[in-house]
Amino acid sequence: MTKMELMDKQLFLLKSQFYDLIEYNRNFHYGILLNEMLKIIKEFIAVDEIRYYHFNESDMKFYMEASTEGNLELETQIRKDFSVGTEWFSAEQNIIRKPFVLAPLDECDVLLPLRKEGEVTGFLAMKGVLDTQDGLLLSIVQECQIFLHKIKGLTEIIVAENRYKQLFRVTEKFHSSMNMDAVLGEVIETLQEVYPSFTYYLMLSHDNNSHGDLPIKDLEYDSENFHAMQAYVTGNVQLESFKHNNTSILYAPLKGKQGVYGVLQVIAPNAKTFPDDEVEFINLLANTAGSALENAQLYQQSRRLISDLQMINETSHKLNSNLRLNESITFMTEKIISSFDAEEVGFILVTEDFRQLKVIQGSTPFFFCDEVEMYLQYLCEKIIAEKDSLFIGDLNINGQADTHYKSIMAVPMVQTGVIKGFAVVMHRDPYHFKFETFKLLQSLIHHSTLAFTNSILREELEKSVITDHLTRLYSRNYLDDKIQRSMHEDDQGTFILIDIDNFKHINDTYGHQVGDEILIQVASIITANIRDTDIGSRWGGEELAVYLPKVPLSTGLVIAERLVEKVRTYTNPKITISCGVSSWKKEQNDTFPRLFKRADKALYKAKETGKNRVVVQ
Ligand code: GH3
Ligand code: MG
Ligand code: MG
Repeated sequence: MTKMELMDKQLFLLKSQFYDLIEYNRNFHYGILLNEMLKIIKEFIAVDEIRYYHFNESDMKFYMEASTEGNLELETQIRKDFSVGTEWFSAEQNIIRKPFVLAPLDECDVLLPLRKEGEVTGFLAMKGVLDTQDGLLLSIVQECQIFLHKIKGLTEIIVAENRYKQLFRVTEKFHSSMNMDAVLGEVIETLQEVYPSFTYYLMLSHDNNSHGDLPIKDLEYDSENFHAMQAYVTGNVQLESFKHNNTSILYAPLKGKQGVYGVLQVIAPNAKTFPDDEVEFINLLANTAGSALENAQLYQQSRRLISDLQMINETSHKLNSNLRLNESITFMTEKIISSFDAEEVGFILVTEDFRQLKVIQGSTPFFFCDEVEMYLQYLCEKIIAEKDSLFIGDLNINGQADTHYKSIMAVPMVQTGVIKGFAVVMHRDPYHFKFETFKLLQSLIHHSTLAFTNSILREELEKSVITDHLTRLYSRNYLDDKIQRSMHEDDQGTFILIDIDNFKHINDTYGHQVGDEILIQVASIITANIRDTDIGSRWGGEELAVYLPKVPLSTGLVIAERLVEKVRTYTNPKITISCGVSSWKKEQNDTFPRLFKRADKALYKAKETGKNRVVVQ
């Protein structure tokens, strides 16, 4: 065998050992293969140690990437711009022998530069006596060069493949999640997995939700965030780099089909620029996240719409079931508080000349205290002036700083072109209500105004007629007149105030229709058990009253007891009543308000002591 043939054979052996590395290393990893390669060379040419130094273009330094001694933490650097260094790696010099100028390399005996298209990409440093011929040595270096190039390329492909696998996994997850926080969390988690040394922030616009411990910043229009804003407005990736601390920042818009939802900020320390393929990957991830956010937002929107519709439906249903005005208002107040997260809700009636305001019962207690006066005056004037609803985020009444409630929505109740009153919804925090909430309130008030005014009219009408339309008993007005006249003309009389027990429960159990029927049943029992000269009346709601002119207390008590017993026996569904009884005598100089008050107290006591009974005061 000639010398050449021998060398070829040796080289062939070396090469096959290199490629076996790829073949048998299932978990392909650049660092491991590099180390293994050095070990093979070390065996092959029998030296004490081999190191590989890689030239880093971004900072023009050599870094030791691997050593057969394995002490990689000793990160030696040599500057390429050292005058001596350039000479070592000049085009002619392929084998450099001791002595070297740089101390860290002094323990080595020989340096072999690796080149690609004439440029030095790194070098092998060897320690120990070397008796390999220069020719073979150079061939080995060349093989190294080729092999390293190969595994570098393969590594990149595998890394890219892994990233896209991640992207695919994330996309899949996004599409199964309608929760914005889960989507944002997943973006951050994936990036941290792929680029652990970077720092991430999500910059969201108009975001007032809490997101647990996600790294979220507000996206605001200020000079500091110029690049972020640029990314947000243009929908394109923006890059920014700081020389003084060698940091690069990337801003990727979270872009969906209908808009940009925020910006992902990625901070890379120790990097002059962002490599292109990383920019592309992060941008892809951000776009995917943008679409996912859009989906989640649309989903949340549609759910809100559905619940809004449900609320309007439920409300109009309730308002159409002939409630008393106070009850309608109470219901609306509660609904608005719970659905709109409001603190105070009030319904105010205004007279035609707008001079007088009257708060309807059922509004929250705040509307009955003095403090409300200034709000109502202010709102009323504004509504009259603007003839429209008010949506106020940071209330300021004539420069006064101490307005307790900052967020206010006020919607006029308009009936056939006339402002009958207005509804006010308040919260102490500024900018508390969303515009959508305001729109919903408008349509809610719009839909219920007719029901309110009908209730008001009906109740006014009830006052003016002498019989109650439901029970056919006398109206309260009529009763009042009759008692007053009797106290003027007669010697004595007895007053019985009647309230149905647990009537709310009856309504809730059987519905208002049955409730009304019960009222009619009780009324019939009353009518059947008193004389024509007695006056049975509907006092209000489910409260009834009987006045017995010229009848002494003892007789009145017997009648009251009889009513309690008959109601208990004959109503269906079975209910009971409580009665408070009072009476007057000419010589006592009594008045009607006192007579009523005593009956009312007695009734209260009857309720207190177990209901279904008669009490005299
Ligand atoms: P209590 O024994 O303490 O009187 O309990 P209650 O449930 O009867 O309580 P309260 O007197 O406060 O409730 C009155 C209820 O009567 C509220 C309202 O739903 C009902 N009501 C009032 N007027 C009418 C009406 O004209 N028709 C019907 N169906 N229900 C009415
Ligand atoms: Mg009652
Ligand atoms: Mg009752």
